[in-house]
Amino acid sequence: MNSTNSTSNISFKGLNALLRENIRLLEPYSSARNEFKGEASVYLDANESPYNSPYNRYPDPLQLKLKTEISKIKHVSVENIFLGNGSDEAIDLIYRIFCEPRIDNVVAIEPTYGMYKVCANINDVEYRKVLLNADFQVEANKILDAIDSNTKVIWICSPNNPTGNLIAKETILKLLTEFHGIVVVDEAYIDFASQESFSCHLEKYPNLIVLQTFSKAWGSAAIRLGMAFASEGIIALFNKIKYPYNVNFLTQKKALEILKNEKKVQNWVATILDERKKMIDELSKLAIIKHIYPTDANFVLVKVDDANGTYQKLVEKGIIVRNRNSVSLCLGCLRITIGSKEENDILLSELKRIKPI
Ligand SMILES: *Cc1c(COP(=O)(O)O)cnc(C)c1O
Repeated sequence: MNSTNSTSNISFKGLNALLRENIRLLEPYSSARNEFKGEASVYLDANESPYNSPYNRYPDPLQLKLKTEISKIKHVSVENIFLGNGSDEAIDLIYRIFCEPRIDNVVAIEPTYGMYKVCANINDVEYRKVLLNADFQVEANKILDAIDSNTKVIWICSPNNPTGNLIAKETILKLLTEFHGIVVVDEAYIDFASQESFSCHLEKYPNLIVLQTFSKAWGSAAIRLGMAFASEGIIALFNKIKYPYNVNFLTQKKALEILKNEKKVQNWVATILDERKKMIDELSKLAIIKHIYPTDANFVLVKVDDANGTYQKLVEKGIIVRNRNSVSLCLGCLRITIGSKEENDILLSELKRIKPI
């Protein structure tokens, strides 16, 4: 990838200018599996046990086989892929690579996924919020107004959690072009959206990081596997500071199995989208539902006339939705995940029994 010719970000100063100095100077840990990468018949280099195969061996630290299969499905080169213990690992590593505690800051839309703020607090980094408008969109200029010379990262979740909508493509492209730091586009729900992934813009924008996950459409939240797509330079930084064996053998094995079932996963997504449409149709007939927000994800945000009361009544029936009543712009709102037809029917029949106030 030729980053000098292909970049369309005029103000991006390059990674070395953005990076924390201790990370730039870091001598990374070199594991046995790092130092000898080929195939051999006798492995006596890592103090492993000779017993209990295949669990006795350390897993591939760079998950090459898994990345090769992901590369085919996602149309992103192996060199542009980082795999972590959920997207949450990638989120934390982004702070640790770029943000100097107590000096640097990040900017995020509000409301959005809670982990960006928790990780900012853990890493002692200032977290600046830019409120979405009533349509849950934001003008790029409002975000650019919130940045200063110590802003290292802008967090954009699209489709956004908990609002459910995609953030306008033009807004994100403007941020990628005009911001001098890293723009993260968290696409945990992209498989449920009609828009293509931002990963097709990686060559053009050296400051772009796209996050995706096995936890949602791929039905594999239990195995903890997140993906980051970015320039080779950024991927090298992730690899430099991650735990050497951050994705365990069982996870790599299970992920390879689920990737073989791409067709099945596509059918799951199609069924969920069908159910989403039915859910919205049915919810719109209920008097307690005041508003149903448009969604590009596998959940729907609804305004009800008594969020806390409705939430409690559902809990008593053993049905758990997410109460977002206390989240900015989400007063009176519940976030409902689209489940199986059976689960959705149970929720709808209980909601029908709740009388409007
Ligand atoms: C669910 C979700 C994730 C997934 O996180 P994992 O650690 O990969 O399970 C990431 N981002 C957003 C916005 C989410 O809602």
